[in-house]
Amino acid sequence: MNAGEGRAGLPVPPGEGRAGSLVPVGEWPGDPAGPGTPVAGSAAEVADLAAGAATLAELVARQSVCRACPRLVAWREEVAVVRRRSFRDEPYWGRPIPGWGSERPRLLIVGLAPAAHGGNRTGRVFTGDRSGDFLFASLFRCGWAEKPTSVSIDDGQRLIGARMVAAVRCAPPANKPEPAERDTCAPWLTAELGLVASGLQVIVCLGGFAWQAIWPLLGQYGFTLPRPRPAFGHGAEVRLRNPRARNAGLGAQAQNPQTGGEVLLIGCYHPSQQNTFTGRVTPAMLDDVFTRAQVYSTPETDGPVTER
Ligand code: SF4
Repeated sequence: MNAGEGRAGLPVPPGEGRAGSLVPVGEWPGDPAGPGTPVAGSAAEVADLAAGAATLAELVARQSVCRACPRLVAWREEVAVVRRRSFRDEPYWGRPIPGWGSERPRLLIVGLAPAAHGGNRTGRVFTGDRSGDFLFASLFRCGWAEKPTSVSIDDGQRLIGARMVAAVRCAPPANKPEPAERDTCAPWLTAELGLVASGLQVIVCLGGFAWQAIWPLLGQYGFTLPRPRPAFGHGAEVRLRNPRARNAGLGAQAQNPQTGGEVLLIGCYHPSQQNTFTGRVTPAMLDDVFTRAQVYSTPETDGPVTER
């Protein structure tokens, strides 16, 4: 191993110092997995294990131990062992970040991938980094989150009628997953979408990557998709017929009078540090999106919330 390289030969981010070791499965607060949770080691195994998960709890456990992408596994674990100097005394999660939030959400928020020292450290999506600070402040203002901050797995934060997922569940080097990694990870999102689709009324895609990643998965479930695909943009909206809506087989009068069994897909600029520092996305812009989601949806499908 050369200086400046990690165990897998990957460059070590600046400002870091060697500090710890990985936390064994089952020893993290609220760890959804245990020693018996099956581990996907290939794209085919991701597809099998995702499709075979009967419940969200089972799916989340399986997501959280996946090792199907060698480059991402090496990176997430390298970062978790080396750690940023300011977090060197904290254990890092260092595993895939599973979906988190309501088990029967009205709103699904789809992001790109966890941050190396955010979700990869805390074990919860958009938790412990500047993007999450920005996002959760807006979710709180708009009634989707119980608190304005999300800093750790045991901070008491809860989503209200909402669920968050990343299109790619492991932190990628330079925040850039490769297309093959996106495709390998897609069955986790597909399965999660299938398990929550019946009550879903709004999907917010944070960034163009998430916008592009969700379309083929929606198509797999029979959502009616316009062609050509509408371009991603902040505030872009598309209404899609939801074939899995709880009342999809009923007449229009029996359906939710507000959404009519449709899901509203909304584009939103990603609250990355680059976007927030440059003013490309502002608190008001995020509030517009999440207020729109609140106005469009109704609370009748709210379900219990979970901490993960
Ligand atoms: S990115 Fe997805 S498929 Fe690849 S190792 Fe992580 S959880 Fe598994």
